[in-house]
Amino acid sequence: MLEGHHGNADVGARARAAAWGILTIDLGALIANYRLIAARVAPARTAAVVKADGYGLGAAAVAGALAAAGCRDFFVALLDEALDLEPLLPPDARLYVLNGLPAGSEALCAGAGIVPILNSLDQARRWRATAAALGRPLPAPIQVDSGMSRLGLPADAVVVLAGEAGFFDDVPLTFVMSHLACADETGTLANEDQRRRFDTLAKLLPPAPRSFANSGGCFLDDAFHGDLVRPGISLYGGAPLPGANPMAAVVALAARVVQLRDVPAGQGVGYGLTFVAPTPRRLATIGVGYADGWLRSLSNRGAAWFGGVRLPIAGRVSMDSIILDVTDLPEGALHEGDLVELIGPHQSIDAVAADAGTIAYEVLTSLGRRYARHYVGGPAFPSQAEANA
Ligand SMILES: *Cc1c(COP(=O)(O)O)cnc(C)c1O
Repeated sequence: MLEGHHGNADVGARARAAAWGILTIDLGALIANYRLIAARVAPARTAAVVKADGYGLGAAAVAGALAAAGCRDFFVALLDEALDLEPLLPPDARLYVLNGLPAGSEALCAGAGIVPILNSLDQARRWRATAAALGRPLPAPIQVDSGMSRLGLPADAVVVLAGEAGFFDDVPLTFVMSHLACADETGTLANEDQRRRFDTLAKLLPPAPRSFANSGGCFLDDAFHGDLVRPGISLYGGAPLPGANPMAAVVALAARVVQLRDVPAGQGVGYGLTFVAPTPRRLATIGVGYADGWLRSLSNRGAAWFGGVRLPIAGRVSMDSIILDVTDLPEGALHEGDLVELIGPHQSIDAVAADAGTIAYEVLTSLGRRYARHYVGGPAFPSQAEANA
């Protein structure tokens, strides 16, 4: 959420002064990631998936920066997200709704110039009926299910739609898309299987560009790129495939030490006293907790960093705080108010996710609303407050 989102220009300054956690979002790194992918998949076009508030980083800021870098195709999951974002995009940008539309919202969507992905016969027919009611064609992409069994027309529905007289006059086919279930696994047969099924299903429809690849797919071979790729997590610095991550880090998270204490051997720490000091320990309480997206599964598992030293989490993650074992730091190195690194050069979003038993997507989209947010390195773009003015 951008500064001033609440219509109060002081909110940003207040958050900077009052927050215990500081979230820095490097829009320059975001743009570098976009360009890296665009160069890799060219001549395919590179869209940006900015659903879930730009994977938690602020859809307005993220999309604004990518638009300034030349991106013109944006995907969100929900119409609501699209309606918020649409006024902030350049007039020639295209904005797609991945989940398609709940019944009754078609006219609202069409009126805003937003395009739903048609995922089912029902969604397709309702969109066609809207075109008929408005008396003009309403172009849209169709998603086919090439094997993931989540969204998109299964083969029998593709055949039915292809046989509906005049459908593609009312709903010109923008592109045909599908989604990979195992894009982050190289060498799996599932990807090749889906590619073949996608090809077969697409050929049942009128000739149209194809969109297939998410982040992982962009880094599979060219056969997976199609005409329009849809990266999300890799734009935000997440590894598109296991192994060395070619993306630049976009997110840094630092949190302040609220309080320091020394405890004797045998002292229990945090809710449930699940950590018991094995020897005398020095502890630091940090003002970030699970309400800020520092997942509770990091209890007794994750860490923070300070001065190149790993500071393990001692005990359970609380709602608003965590306790670090800082005994390994030199005496007097850490003070109340100092910032420790939660995400940064020592600890990537993928590393945090691995500690938490999840994926970087969940780490990013869980980041809470209580951080002071700094956007750095980006081109000038209007804040939401300015755009609404
Ligand atoms: C979320 C999503 C993407 C982006 O996936 P990443 O793995 O984040 O790159 C692309 N396409 C569809 C249909 C999605 O739902």
